[in-house]
Amino acid sequence: MSELDDSARNELAELAREIRGLVEWHELCGASGLPSEASPREVLGLLDPGRAPSPQGQRPTQGQRPPQPPQQPPSPARADSRAETRPAPSPFSRQEAQAAPPPADRQREPQRDPPLLSRDPAPRDVALRETLSVEEKVRRLAILDAEVKSCTACVLCEKRTKTVFARGKPSAEICFIGEGPGADEDAQGEPFVGKAGQLLDKMIGAMGMQRDDVYICNIVKCRPPENREPLPPEVASCLPYLTQQIEIVQPKVIVTLGNVPLKALFNVQGIMKLRGTWRLYKGAIPVMPTYHPAYVLRNPTAQVRGDVWNDLKLVMKQLGKAIPQRGA
Ligand code: URA
Repeated sequence: MSELDDSARNELAELAREIRGLVEWHELCGASGLPSEASPREVLGLLDPGRAPSPQGQRPTQGQRPPQPPQQPPSPARADSRAETRPAPSPFSRQEAQAAPPPADRQREPQRDPPLLSRDPAPRDVALRETLSVEEKVRRLAILDAEVKSCTACVLCEKRTKTVFARGKPSAEICFIGEGPGADEDAQGEPFVGKAGQLLDKMIGAMGMQRDDVYICNIVKCRPPENREPLPPEVASCLPYLTQQIEIVQPKVIVTLGNVPLKALFNVQGIMKLRGTWRLYKGAIPVMPTYHPAYVLRNPTAQVRGDVWNDLKLVMKQLGKAIPQRGA
């Protein structure tokens, strides 16, 4: 084969790779078609980290609508479709971890390539582009917390003992989002301090971090009676607080716990099917849905714990963090 043939073949292979990346990106952020004012080659250039135009990502041309994150779930599938997947050894049980240390090469492959998300070619939500100092984050969160404390926007305010705003680091890279306070949280005014919270702490420890290294909050800030799920009007009136928390903290990754945050943020349901698959919040922040720790406590099977551990490993991979062999 001549030199010319080789170089033509290499260029074709490179082009094919770039097109595949573009198609995957479009699938991921729900966009369709190519921006009208850019040539395909220019758009493809955005996918090459070496050629990325700005650290803040591609801004939309004036009057052009940015690609939106997907709003609809993929076609339904059986909730038990993962049953055949071999569970990865979970760090939440020492016995299990000792019997079978997690082989790095046997992790379940992510359904989306996480590094693609970090190439960041999408237009970011305007509020999420703002650069805030840690002091400013602390200041704005304190103001928001004070607003929440006096909130009477829904009936949940009537029975609350304390509002439950958040805990953790205002400049955290990871934000965990749960459902709403339970009895312990309502009494103490802090999220995830009960049994589910202790498991969440173990999950965070397994990732090689402390609970105060991350930011933890909920969809609703007041306890729903009898620990029922928050109702749609309660979620709707509380969601603006969470939106602002995310805009202020600007985490690099969000981990949603269970069905409620998935429904509230993306209007999709089906944690069994959707966990372990990346989504994008406001075209800017990768979101990994996983099981709620309370679900793991009720179903402490190797499969469920292994699924959660796989999801957390995807998060660490996305953040470029080393994956500990054994957790807490
Ligand atoms: N479950 C949640 O979703 N949030 C908490 O804060 C506690 C338990």
